[in-house]
Amino acid sequence: MSQSDEGSSETCGCKVGRVADRYGLADLDADLVRRWTDETDERYSTRDLAEHVNKRVLAAALDDAGLGYKDGEVENTYRLLTDDEVSSGTRVQTRKELERDAVPVEDVESDFVSHQTVYNHLTDCLEASLESPSDEERLERSRDKLGALRNRTAAVTEDTVEQLERSGVLEVGEFNVLVNVTITCEDCKTQYTIRDLLDQGGCDCQSTGE
Ligand SMILES: [Zn+2]
Ligand SMILES: [Zn+2]
Repeated sequence: MSQSDEGSSETCGCKVGRVADRYGLADLDADLVRRWTDETDERYSTRDLAEHVNKRVLAAALDDAGLGYKDGEVENTYRLLTDDEVSSGTRVQTRKELERDAVPVEDVESDFVSHQTVYNHLTDCLEASLESPSDEERLERSRDKLGALRNRTAAVTEDTVEQLERSGVLEVGEFNVLVNVTITCEDCKTQYTIRDLLDQGGCDCQSTGE
């Protein structure tokens, strides 16, 4: 790799870094960090960011093939390539047209990144220049993680009860499994469901300073 052009001298080895290099997206890191740490409603989730990266990749590929494109065309082409709602016929047609225009569709598609890849790039590769994930992002990830755990607990419980019932060890009618995780603040003895505690950001008794 040459040590010439601006900015990208310390490219990380991850997919986002490689893709940014390949398509000459020199400002990509700054772009991602700015959108991710934005403290207004404009803030991008990692899902939004992955889509943003992929649209920039697509735009760069169209540029490389010497195709002019109008406002909204990249968006639309991206949608035709990736949206589940698009029929496979339409998708095949779109890919054919791109190929005819000398866009290496297959390569471009395999250069598309997932939200997890973007997240890893932001947190692992750019760690030094990035503040820790926003509180909201952390809460969101914790909600996801605990939600998945609750669902798994419910599924395993249901299975277990059904097995015992089938083998005649246990008798029960139609049943529902409800998994509740409760947190008790030992300072004030208030109980919360984990969901409520995450939503309100802490126990009431702690609300005056740290
Ligand atoms: Zn990276
Ligand atoms: Zn409390």
